[in-house]
Amino acid sequence: MDISSDIQFLPGIGPKRADILKKELAIYTVEDLLSYYPYKYIDRSRIYYVHEINADISYIQLKGKLRNIKKTGEGRNQRLSAFLYDTTGQVELVWFQGIRYVEDKLKTNAVYLVFGKPSYFKGNYTIIHPDIDIANSENQEQTLGWQAHYNTSENMKKHFLNSTAIRKLVYTALKSIGTPIAETLPKYLVDEYNLMPLHDALINIHFPQQAELLKKAQHRLKFEELFYIQLSILRQSKYRELKYKGFVFPKIDYFFNTFYKEFLPFELTGAQKKVLKEIRKDLGSGKQMNRLLQGDVGSGKTLVALLSMLMAIDNGFQACIMAPTEILATQHYDTINQLLGTIGISTALLTGSTKKKNREKIHTQLLSGELNILIGTHALIEDSVVFNNLGLVIIDEQHRFGVAQRAKLWNKNIQPPHILVMTATPIPRTLAMTVYGDLEVSVIDELPPGRKAIQTYHYYDNKRTALLGFLSKQINAGRQVYIVYPLIQESEKIDLRNLEEGYVYFKEHLPQFNISMIHGKMKAAKKDDEMKKFVSGETQIMVATTVIEVGVNVPNASVMVIESAERFGLSQLHQLRGRVGRGAEQSYCILLTPFKITTETKKRMEIMVKSNDGFEISEADLQMRGPGDMDGTTQSGMPFELKIANLAHDSHLLSLGRKKAIEILDKDPSLESPENRILTYQLNKKTKNTVNWSVIS
Ligand code: ADP
Ligand code: MG
Repeated sequence: MDISSDIQFLPGIGPKRADILKKELAIYTVEDLLSYYPYKYIDRSRIYYVHEINADISYIQLKGKLRNIKKTGEGRNQRLSAFLYDTTGQVELVWFQGIRYVEDKLKTNAVYLVFGKPSYFKGNYTIIHPDIDIANSENQEQTLGWQAHYNTSENMKKHFLNSTAIRKLVYTALKSIGTPIAETLPKYLVDEYNLMPLHDALINIHFPQQAELLKKAQHRLKFEELFYIQLSILRQSKYRELKYKGFVFPKIDYFFNTFYKEFLPFELTGAQKKVLKEIRKDLGSGKQMNRLLQGDVGSGKTLVALLSMLMAIDNGFQACIMAPTEILATQHYDTINQLLGTIGISTALLTGSTKKKNREKIHTQLLSGELNILIGTHALIEDSVVFNNLGLVIIDEQHRFGVAQRAKLWNKNIQPPHILVMTATPIPRTLAMTVYGDLEVSVIDELPPGRKAIQTYHYYDNKRTALLGFLSKQINAGRQVYIVYPLIQESEKIDLRNLEEGYVYFKEHLPQFNISMIHGKMKAAKKDDEMKKFVSGETQIMVATTVIEVGVNVPNASVMVIESAERFGLSQLHQLRGRVGRGAEQSYCILLTPFKITTETKKRMEIMVKSNDGFEISEADLQMRGPGDMDGTTQSGMPFELKIANLAHDSHLLSLGRKKAIEILDKDPSLESPENRILTYQLNKKTKNTVNWSVIS
C-alpha cells in the first residue's frame, strides 16, 4: 500500500464506506485521507477529578471505578448506565446505542479511563456515550498526547465513520504505508526554513505527542499550502506576461496635459499622484497591466481612472469603465462629462436600459473610433460591443464582477487591453495576495484635504425620538439624510415591508420634509427619478436599500442612518458610511440595533464607532468572520480551498510563501531546473481541478 492507493483497499474500509468518503469528503486515495486534517485537538494529557467538572470544560478525562451498572428499557428504549467514581465524587455514564458492545466491558472491580463531554442534567453531571477503556499501562501512555478530532457528516456517522473511526483509519493508513512518504517540497526549502519533513508532519498532525511537535507539523503543512497557492498564482501571471505583450502608451500628450493644467478642479493628493505614477509606469512598460487600485470610499479613485484614460486616448486608444449598477455607471458618466467639460473627448453611456436606437449609434461610433470613452454596466461585455482600439479597461468595485467577466474584457482587442480594477472595499493584504494574487496592488491611502472625520454612534432602537430630533435639526441646517435598510434575497419580502414601513414612519414623524425611496425591485426609470430628486435637493431624506452602497455621491448628504445595523458586515457598514462625509460639513453615521444583540455584534458596532479606517475595519472583519464570509470575497469566490492554513491568522507564513515563490520564479520562470522539478510536479497535481484563468482569454 502506498499513498496513491485507492482508499477502498485500506483495511477496514471496503467499497461502501470508500464510496461515502469519496462523495462526502472527496477522499479518493490514502494521500487524500492523510491530508484530511483534524479541526481540533483535545487535551488528553491530564486526568481530572470528578469534582473538577464544571460548565466551562467541554471534554474531560476521568479515572475511576464503576458502580450501579444498570440496564433499563426494551428495544429502542434501552439504556445502559453506570456511575464512575473517584475519591472526589461520582458522575453518571449513559449509553443509548451500542449497548451490547459496551455492556461486556463494564465491570465493578476494574479501574477505567473515561473520556467524554459532560452535560448538566437534573442537578448532576452526566456523560453520554463516553469513550471508556480499562486503564492499563498502554492507554495511560496514549493519554499523554492530544487527541485529533475530525469533521464528519450525519451520513458518515450513520455508516460508522465518526471522528474516532476516521482517526483509526488514518492510523491504519500511516501503519500500512511501508516506505517513508516522499517529500513534496524541494530539499532546499525544507533546509532553509528548517521545516519538519512531510512524513513526520503527517504523523504529528494526526497523532501529536507533544504540543511542540504539533506546532511544527502545522507550521510545515501551512507553509506548504500557502507557498503552493502563491507559486501557482504567480506562475500563471508569469506565463501570461510571457505570452501576451501589452500595448505601449509612450507619450503623455494633449488631453492629459490640457486636462491637468486647465480642467483639474483641485490639486491631486500625494497618494493620487503616487498611484498615477505606478499606472503610468505599467502603461509604458510593454507588459499588460493588471492592477488593483484600492482606496477607501471618497479617496478620489474616479479622478485617477479619468487621468489614466486620458493617457490611453493620448496614445490613440479607447477606454471604458464598467460599473456594477446602473446608478453607479450613470453617476460616473455624469461626473466624467462634468470634469471633461469642453476639452473635446466623446463619451457614451451603455447600460441594460439604453434604447435600441441609441445603442446602435454607440456600436457604430465605437467601431469607427469616434467614441473615446465608453461607460456602462455588464452591458459592456456583450459580444455585440466591439471597439475600434480598446487600450484600457477600468472596472469599478471589482468584487461584484466575477473573474470570468473580467477575463471576457480581454477579448475586446487583438491583444488584451490594460486592466485597472478599482475597489473601495479595502481588503487585508493577506486576502489581496490570494484573491487578487495575480494583480499588482496600488493603494490610495490618503483622503483629499479638508475632510472631517465622520462621527459614528450606536443607538438602540428605543432612541428613535431622539433620532428624529437630530434628523430634523440637520435637515433644517440644510443637510440631507440617508436611511438604509437591509435587504437580502432570503428574506426579501419581509425586508421590503420593513423598508416600506420605515418610509411611512418617517413620513408621519417628519411630515415637514420630502422623502425619496429606492430599492432594487423598482423599475430603473422610477429609481432614476427618485435619485434625481435627492441629488437635486428636492427631497431631503432618502430611504433606501443597499443599492446606494456603492459609489453614489451626494456631497450635501451628511447623515447616514443604518437600520438593523446588526445584519450588515463590517465592511458593508463602512461602505455605507462612506456615502456621507463627502462635503465640507460635519457628517454623522448612526447605527441602529435592537437592544438585545450578541457580544460579537456589540464588538462590531464598537469597531465602527471607533475607527474610520477601511483597512483597519476589514482586518477586524477578517479576524472576526474569517475569509469565507468577508465582503469582497464571497462573490468573486476564493480561488483556493484552504485545508489547514487560515488567512486571518497565518499572514506571516503567507508573506513568507509569496516572497519565496517570487524568488524562485525570478530565477527559474518555467520551473525547469532539476531541483525545481518537484515544484512543477506538485503544482500540476494540486491545480488539476482548478480553473486556469490565465488561458481564459
Ligand atoms: P471614490 O474613491 O470613493 O470613488 P471619488 O472619486 O468619488 O471617490 O471622489 C470623492 C470626492 O472627492 C469627489 O467629490 C471628488 O471630486 C473629490 N476629490 C477627488 N480627488 C480630490 C482631490 N485631490 N482634492 C479634493 N477633492 C477631491
Ligand atoms: Mg467611486
